[in-house]
Amino acid sequence: MSTQPSPQSTATYDVVVLGAGIAGLTAAATAVESGLTVAVLEKTDSFGGSSAMSGGFFAFSGTPEQEAEGIQDTAEAFRDDLVRLGGGHADPALIETYLEHQDDTYAWLKEHGVVFGAVEVSSGQSHARSHLSPIKDVLAELARTVVEHGGVILTGHRATELVTDGGGNVTGVRAVGPQGPTQFAGRGGVIIASGGFSRGEDLLRVFAPEQLAGIPYGGLGNTGDGLKMAWKLGAGLADMSFISGTFGSHPETGIEFHELLTANYMGAIIVNTAGRRFVDESLSYKTLGAACLAQPDGLGFEVFDASVRARSHPGVPLNDIGFLEDLGHVYTADTLEGLAAAAGIGAAGLIETVAAYNRAVAGEEPDAFGRTGLVNGTGDLVPVLQAPFYAYPAKTLMTSTYCGLTITPEARVKDVDGRVIEGLFAVGEVTGGFHGAAYMTGTSLGKGAVFGRIAARAIAAALIPVS
Ligand SMILES: Cc1cc2nc3c(=O)[nH]c(=O)nc-3n(C[C@H](O)[C@H](O)[C@H](O)COP(=O)(O)OP(=O)(O)OC[C@H]3O[C@@H](n4cnc5c(N)ncnc54)[C@H](O)[C@@H]3O)c2cc1C
Repeated sequence: MSTQPSPQSTATYDVVVLGAGIAGLTAAATAVESGLTVAVLEKTDSFGGSSAMSGGFFAFSGTPEQEAEGIQDTAEAFRDDLVRLGGGHADPALIETYLEHQDDTYAWLKEHGVVFGAVEVSSGQSHARSHLSPIKDVLAELARTVVEHGGVILTGHRATELVTDGGGNVTGVRAVGPQGPTQFAGRGGVIIASGGFSRGEDLLRVFAPEQLAGIPYGGLGNTGDGLKMAWKLGAGLADMSFISGTFGSHPETGIEFHELLTANYMGAIIVNTAGRRFVDESLSYKTLGAACLAQPDGLGFEVFDASVRARSHPGVPLNDIGFLEDLGHVYTADTLEGLAAAAGIGAAGLIETVAAYNRAVAGEEPDAFGRTGLVNGTGDLVPVLQAPFYAYPAKTLMTSTYCGLTITPEARVKDVDGRVIEGLFAVGEVTGGFHGAAYMTGTSLGKGAVFGRIAARAIAAALIPVS
């Protein structure tokens, strides 16, 4: 195992990975298991990034967990959903790669102790395929695998600049660590896994200034460093115009735990402070996020009745209403007037809105926003009818950016002309092209794991001759 370099010296590894979230740790764990020497540089003082703050859902289709719950999902249905959500902008080759490798990635995660719990239907899905994982344990296990096989994870090391040879091939990276500047060479390449730029004010100002009104969230180190380093070398960019925060977080949400409620996918409507609906609530929570930013105070309320309250899933992120009640974040009242008064919503607007919505649910008139299902067009709508009534105030949370470096299906970074930048790989949220116009729940942790493994195996295949 190589040791940490002193200032000004260069440490050489087979692979240098920038960032220790799901994508970087999966790549590093796969690399060490393939017999490679690996250094993971992590800018912050602990590993995990946005991955550790996430809901922990991985999107897979055709799993035993789905089968056990009678969910008849297929790779074809998954593909259809991804293509539709991508709105013609997603790279079909990346989608195919995910689908082709989802089974082995799922199996590999299980081999590394991952136990998937509930399978939920969520944003963008025609079938329940969000597999809940204890994500912090998953990351800890992957980190343990890296270290156990002789890899090093250097926290407090911020990568600052890619190093190239005379021909533009990436050969390493410069970083700043506790002992000053250091340099790392990667014999087989450098893998950028530095996450998105949900906290990168400068990049948001360029690509999505309207999102600066959302609540800044995501990993504290996620300022887009890796994206900028590769951009400087001429890397191509994709999906930059689709950045959108996620709707559904309480205005006072903190970084200690992940607070997000999608009662709308269980039957709630969403109204603004005037009590008026403003969007089809079954759409992707990213689309809802953009719609909510345009409302007064950037505020929406998920309004629902006792029948939706009864659908709460204790312990399941996005669906645990009881937990949010215990925090004092859910208003409740026996009448809509009382609810409006408690939550600060215009009462007349709310009463009129609910009456119109209930008529649409009963089929008496078309829905004002074309809503036909609970989520993604599926699931039967329910009227807001049974007391008590509830309101959860929510804003748009800038959790993730889901856009960035263009890559090949082997996770090699492509330049603006589509040519591979030799020696440079990118995996996880720093990459663009997979999601296109919108993100489906579970596909970011999923793509981090899928492409993390692919990048590491590509480097191993190049460095280790087949005997
Ligand atoms: C609240 C929340 C809930 C979410 N829920 C889900 C979910 O359930 N399912 C899902 O699929 N997605 C979810 N997402 C999105 C998902 O978590 C992220 O897109 C994904 O975890 C990104 O993984 P990553 O490994 O690419 O990046 P990260 O996990 O963010 O890791 C990147 C790491 O790189 C480090 N880094 C940055 N710059 C440098 C540098 N210069 N040098 C060295 N290190 C650097 C960062 O500090 C960070 O630790 C959620 C996100 C949030 C915030």
